[in-house]
Amino acid sequence: MNVPVNLLKKPVKQNLLGMTLQDLEVFFTESGEKAFRASQVMKWLHQLLAADFDEMTNISKALRETLKQVATIDVPEIVFDQTSADGTRKWVLQLEGGNKIETVFIPEANRGTLCISSQVGCALDCSFCSTARQGFSRNLTSAEIVGQVWIASRLLGENSRDDRKITNVVLMGMGEPLLNYDNVLKAITIFMHDDAYGLSKRRVTVSTSGVLPKLDLLGKDSNVALAVSLHAVTDEIRDSLVPVNKKYPLKELMASCRRYIENQTAKTHITFEYVMLNGVNDSHQDAVKLVALLRGIPAKVNLIPFNPFPDSGYDCSPMPIIKEFKELLMKSGLVATIRKTRGEDIDAACGQLVGKVKDKSRRERKFENPRYGMN
Ligand code: SAH
Repeated sequence: MNVPVNLLKKPVKQNLLGMTLQDLEVFFTESGEKAFRASQVMKWLHQLLAADFDEMTNISKALRETLKQVATIDVPEIVFDQTSADGTRKWVLQLEGGNKIETVFIPEANRGTLCISSQVGCALDCSFCSTARQGFSRNLTSAEIVGQVWIASRLLGENSRDDRKITNVVLMGMGEPLLNYDNVLKAITIFMHDDAYGLSKRRVTVSTSGVLPKLDLLGKDSNVALAVSLHAVTDEIRDSLVPVNKKYPLKELMASCRRYIENQTAKTHITFEYVMLNGVNDSHQDAVKLVALLRGIPAKVNLIPFNPFPDSGYDCSPMPIIKEFKELLMKSGLVATIRKTRGEDIDAACGQLVGKVKDKSRRERKFENPRYGMN
């Protein structure tokens, strides 16, 4: 019997859910175990969704007992689970330490998209996003990011890889993924790994406001699908909507997007998200400028009707204006779609995810900001 006594020397219990195959290989080999255990355990965790080491029947009892002492399979606690009239399902998950995050499942006829969070709150302070109001609390660990997919897969009743409810994962929940780079990279590696969720690179999307040095890094480290939250075509307007634009203005953002495409070996495109705000960024001229800005980049434009929340100070553009905007883009040869709003009745739509930050003072301080009014 091969009991890896060295495993017992590990100082703290490690949560195996957030480990890539490479991490698991290091974990096992450093302890004198065989490297193939990594792939076995990875399949148990992410394909068979094992919640307990005792379920891992092709691993000796002795090794399972040791694993129980040095490792965990820990996921956040589900404190809220609600399904919307349109089938959208939202979970509020409580993390260790009390912070809460949100995860949303959006079923469609031919696919199921899970929208996951990467941070508790967000530091970017976009003026039209409710997550911004609560400020930033902390980064999620890779296990907490992966845990959202694990929990949703189990609760949606996925019993095997052939029984997939979640066909796409998008990092469009709370937080800015590129400000939690290392953990996000680990998580997307796990989503795409064949021994784990096995999603293709087109089915895992990182959405960013444009944190540039990290965007360049992502293009080198990964071939994941990219969505960029553009929202405006001049620096003046983008500065007011997406303040990170002051640091990384449009010209640099577009250059970085071009580099991202050049770095990809396979043919691909970037999705540009554009929230439709009445009288702010929805004019005929905005559409014309958008076409010019995206020239030469394989792009799809996703127009997002603004989802209101209390005291946002914005209104959604009327649907005829959004349709006209889309037509103009299409006439110029761009692919453009209007995002269907889902899960509004349970506050699960884009920009409505707020979770609950433990440190309320940050949130209260935010509301003292005159831009938001004093309530
Ligand atoms: N931080 C990342 C991902 C999170 S937001 C990013 O900025 O891309 C996911 C998308 O929802 C972004 O495009 C964001 O700008 C958009 N969004 C935020 N608040 C919104 C709202 N109230 N209505 C519609 N879309 C919103």
